[in-house]
Parts: sequence; C-alpha cells; structure tokens
Amino acid sequence: MTKETVKCLIIGAGPAGYTAAIYAARAGLKPLMYQGPQPGGQLTITNDVENYPGYPNGIKGPQMMMDFQAQAARFGTDIRYGIATKVDFSSYPHKVTIDDSHEIEAYSVIVATGASAKWLGLPAEQKFQNAGVSACAVCDGYFYRNQTVTVVGGGDTACEEASYLAKLCKKVYLLVRTDKMRASKIMQERVLKTENIEILWNSQTLDILGEQEVEAMRVKNTVSGEVKDFAIKGFFVAIGHQPNTQIFENVLTMDSNGYIITEKGSSRTNIEGVFAAGDAQDHVYRQAVTAAGTGCMAALDAERFLAAKGVH
Ligand code: NDP
Repeated sequence: MTKETVKCLIIGAGPAGYTAAIYAARAGLKPLMYQGPQPGGQLTITNDVENYPGYPNGIKGPQMMMDFQAQAARFGTDIRYGIATKVDFSSYPHKVTIDDSHEIEAYSVIVATGASAKWLGLPAEQKFQNAGVSACAVCDGYFYRNQTVTVVGGGDTACEEASYLAKLCKKVYLLVRTDKMRASKIMQERVLKTENIEILWNSQTLDILGEQEVEAMRVKNTVSGEVKDFAIKGFFVAIGHQPNTQIFENVLTMDSNGYIITEKGSSRTNIEGVFAAGDAQDHVYRQAVTAAGTGCMAALDAERFLAAKGVH
C-alpha cells in the first residue's frame, strides 16, 4: 500500500467536484482529485447543455466537463483517475483508500461522487443514448418540443418530468408498471389533470425501436397481455436515481435513499472535515449549476475549516 498526505482530497469529477477543485486550488489548498468510474459525471451522457449560464449558444455536456477539468487543472489541481474503495474517518487526518492500493491521509475531504440514473436494462437504452433516450427532462426535453414522448415511472420524479414535458411536447405517455403510482397525491393529481398526458397503466417496455434515433416503443400490458407499438421521439426514464455513496454507508449520515445529509446552509457532514456537494447530497434540484454551487460551498467550508485547524 502506497501512502501520501494532502490538505484537500476531492472524490468525484462532475460539476460539483470540479468547482470545488477550482476554488480549493485558487485558495492554495493544492487539492488532489480522484475521478470516479465516470469522469465528468452524468453530463457526459447528455447532449447539448442549454441551461448553464454563460453558454448562450449551449454546449455539449462532455465538452463542458472538459472545460471544467481544464479550469481545475489550470490552478494546479492534481487530477487522477481512480476509485475510492474504502474510507476511514474515525481518526484525523482522514484516510481514503484508492483502488485498494493507495492510501491518502487528508486533512479535509470533499465528497462529490454524484448519483446515477437507474435504467430499465434494455440494450436499446444504450443504443439511443443522445439519440432519443434520456434520464433528464429538464436537460433534454427542449429537443422534443411539439413531439410525442414517453416518461417511464410512477414516482415523484416521473410525474415531475411528465408535467415539465407536457408544457413543451404535443403528447406525453406516462408508463406505469402497475395500476398505481408511488408519487405524492398532489403530483399524481397534476398529471391526471393534464390533458396531453396519457397514463399507460400496467405497462412494461419491451423495446425501444428506431434506426438512428428513437421512433417507437413496444409496450406490453401486463394484465391483458396485449403488445403494442407507439410512435414516439423521446423516451425518458425516471425510475429513480442512486446516489453513489455506498462506501460512506454507516460513516456519513444519510437519508433512507442514501443521500448524504449536510448541515442546513452548508456542506458540512456529520464528520468534522468531511464536506459533501452535488447530487450525492441533493435529490431535489440535481442540476449542473446547483451542483457547481454546492461544490463552491464545500471548498469554502474546507478552506475555513483548515484555517481554523491551523493546517497550512
Ligand atoms: P421513486 O423510487 O420514488 O419511484 C420510482 C418509480 O419508478 C416507482 O413508480 C417505481 O415503480 C418505478 N420503477 C422502478 N423500477 C422500475 C422499472 N424497472 N420499470 C418500470 N418502473 C420502475 O423514485 P423518484 O426518483 O420518483 O423519487 C425519489 C425520491 O425523491 C422520492 O422520495 C421522491 O418523493 C423525491 N422527489 C421529490 C420531488 C419533489 O418533492 N418535488 C421531485 C422528485 C423526487 P413501483 O412503484 O412499482 O416500484
């Protein structure tokens, strides 16, 4: 096991992690960042990003993340590829093991490991990434204005996505796998009252069809057994997200869905010197710009924490 000691370790390389890195580096903390299994995070699987301020003509998600990385590197962030496999926050400095082979002692840790959308597991979901399949209506809905789209799921996210898309699109199918929705009553009512949302109950997606782009979906009614194709242009999967926080289980305080709980108005976790930013601690907003904002908060919190501790 190799070892090293750093003032600030950032785990995760999405908008939250990179923004934390920019601020921490400019504050002289010489941050070390480990990119996880998906460097750049969820934005690397989106198409054009048109809602991030400062890009009036929009930008491709992967390009935006390369810009974030270049900006973090410019101020001296040590950016490496590796996966945090173990944490020990029981003593100080904190210990984080990378790839089971390298141990880092860190005087402050910023957790920005993000969240991953859950998928149905159909091969077509991969085939049509950036070509009609999405897990984010706010990111990609605009590309399907005046078209027919589908949202899969029956929770609050699915209802919210369906309501959002209904304002842009000609028609929205909401595909619910049983005869009831899990969403809160108010969200269900909103969906039921929206004229251009049609709920397909007891429905299972068998396949997504098309040549280069999504053209249709094949759906089975699990009660009648009927199989039918529906013409659609966009297929939005909204069956939940999974925060990438498994290695912090029983260490950092989390809610029942695994999102890290931070002190109100800050990025502080229950462990002194450990801060959380981005989607790993936010299941409500989940936007690049809010993730970047909390990344900034985490770096400022870490800087102030280190100054109070006298770590130079
Ligand atoms: P949920 O876990 O609440 O709901 C997931 C939905 O997807 C369920 O309807 C589930 O069906 C369905 N589903 C799961 N797997 C599949 C599958 N393989 N095929 C088809 N359907 C599937 O996730 P959400 O993302 O909706 O919500 C997560 C949390 O965030 C919740 O606590 C929610 O309240 C909260 N939230 C709050 C919002 C707000 O207050 N504005 C907005 C968005 C989220 P089934 O019920 O049959 O298991």
